[in-house]
Amino acid sequence: MSDFVRSTASKYKFGAHLSTAGGISNSVTNAHKLGCNSFAMFLKSPRRWVSPDYTQEEIDKFKKYCTKLGYDPLRDILPHGQYFINLANPDLEKAEKSYASFLDDLKRCEQLGVGLYNFHPGSSLKGDHEEQLSQLAAYLNKAHQETKFVKIVLENMAGTGSLVGSDLADLKTVIDKVEDKTRIGVCVDTCHTFAAGYDISTETAYDKFWKDFDDIIGFKYLSAVHLNDSKAPLAANRDLHEKLGQGFLNLEVFKLIASSDFLTGIPIVLETPQEQDVGYGHEVKLLEWLETYDDNKDKEEFTKKLEELQAKGEKSRKEHLAKFEKKKTIKRKAAATNSKGEDIAERISRSRVKKPKM
Ligand SMILES: [Zn+2]
Ligand SMILES: [Zn+2]
Repeated sequence: MSDFVRSTASKYKFGAHLSTAGGISNSVTNAHKLGCNSFAMFLKSPRRWVSPDYTQEEIDKFKKYCTKLGYDPLRDILPHGQYFINLANPDLEKAEKSYASFLDDLKRCEQLGVGLYNFHPGSSLKGDHEEQLSQLAAYLNKAHQETKFVKIVLENMAGTGSLVGSDLADLKTVIDKVEDKTRIGVCVDTCHTFAAGYDISTETAYDKFWKDFDDIIGFKYLSAVHLNDSKAPLAANRDLHEKLGQGFLNLEVFKLIASSDFLTGIPIVLETPQEQDVGYGHEVKLLEWLETYDDNKDKEEFTKKLEELQAKGEKSRKEHLAKFEKKKTIKRKAAATNSKGEDIAERISRSRVKKPKM
């Protein structure tokens, strides 16, 4: 892996979701090699319910690397929970199983001294949505009592309806029911936001989204950002991450991010689909370049980069746009041919197979 020099000049904590192969402490050294100012990782296997405990040696190594390489585990590291955790599941047995793994994750954070923990707020499935949001909040309250300091960060989602957090109002409802407001936050994923139907692809839309975010949830809860372009178009409800600049968001949006003062001080973590982690090193450098962008001298280079990246993603964008148009046509036909068409269309969209993403 080639080395990237970590920026001390950037006022943003640009980083990436990194591999822990060989031990959790390797995420720290990987972050440093890639020039990240923040990072994310899984605390255990994202595919299994139970994983072996950390050894004391591994915990010590993780902490030692953080000190040596200059990462503040309370603020710079944002582990990601397992995708199958669903604390909003109306099937209580399954919700309890999720809670056990969720609590285990929070305890792992505290063993490592990590102060933030990001997870997907789950789905109310066929249950009453409001009731399941209350259940989710009750689990968060319980988790706060069973741990000491880690802040739980809810990620916004790309879907609709029963998928909690696709609507920002869901997150507000949950936060309202959480007793310890100092230990709850929100992570805004740029791909999920756009796919859920919140346009952020132009400067005006971007500003409006953040105003809405502040009105609905409040900036004080903004604890992290996941930085991804989107393979799918606006409101497609597809969680399909794309490399920066190659999707429907394009480089203009990431330039806006890299000049948004309200995003300083929180982890801004890439989850783009890279063949190798070295791709993240390049994207962090791209973001740092966007941060220093000067209209007078960089415009030409910016336009060149923007066009190059858009060209790379063109084929994929066309394919996903065609799929989206086809789905819309099916929905319209279902609505037209049946008096309960709306319900059927809703059911079709809800029952579609979802491939969970970060
Ligand atoms: Zn994400
Ligand atoms: Zn995620």
